[in-house]
Amino acid sequence: MKISQERLEELRKIFKEDFKADLTDQELHDAAFNLTGFYGTLTKMATRDIDDYLRLEKEPNGWAISDEYGTCGFCGYYMSVKGFWFDRFGFKCKFCQKAVNEGIIPGTVCRNKEKWFSFETLKEKFGIHSTTARSLVRKGELNARVILNDTGKPHFTVFLREDNYKFLKIEKEAPISDLEDYDKQVAKWAEDYKKKMVEGQKSGK
Ligand SMILES: [Zn+2]
Repeated sequence: MKISQERLEELRKIFKEDFKADLTDQELHDAAFNLTGFYGTLTKMATRDIDDYLRLEKEPNGWAISDEYGTCGFCGYYMSVKGFWFDRFGFKCKFCQKAVNEGIIPGTVCRNKEKWFSFETLKEKFGIHSTTARSLVRKGELNARVILNDTGKPHFTVFLREDNYKFLKIEKEAPISDLEDYDKQVAKWAEDYKKKMVEGQKSGK
């Protein structure tokens, strides 16, 4: 299969933005070819997501993940820290999960990267360097939410759109993200599945 350079560059961008990974050309080619087996994997993932959705109805607070390391769905850090957690806002490291539980950040921001900025994206999108951002925070012009680690030190700093849209001169509301769209789709699949199960039970009697 021949993959165009344009598609490869799109894929490179996805790895960078969603997984914070800088791939070499070889790695990128490997990833692209692995994607040929992608659709089978996708079906399995969708099935798992529907299972999770149904389980969340019984366990709305979510559950602990027994993996000892993983990549947090919010801060994006790959960590060998126990205490990963899954709930309706996705898979999170224990620091980000605690921040959601304690209301430091609203859980909904975990499903939409347009709802918040990091030091990195402030620089990328608005040309605000981290030193400038820090001084703007001190002046009270930018509002930061700080996620702390176990030792009370900053783990990840977040600038919510809803806190900073006026200063950044952007819309208050973020456009719906692919993840939010996908969550809706999973909910629909799960509801359809439940309906079918009920119908199946009725016709079985
Ligand atoms: Zn995290």
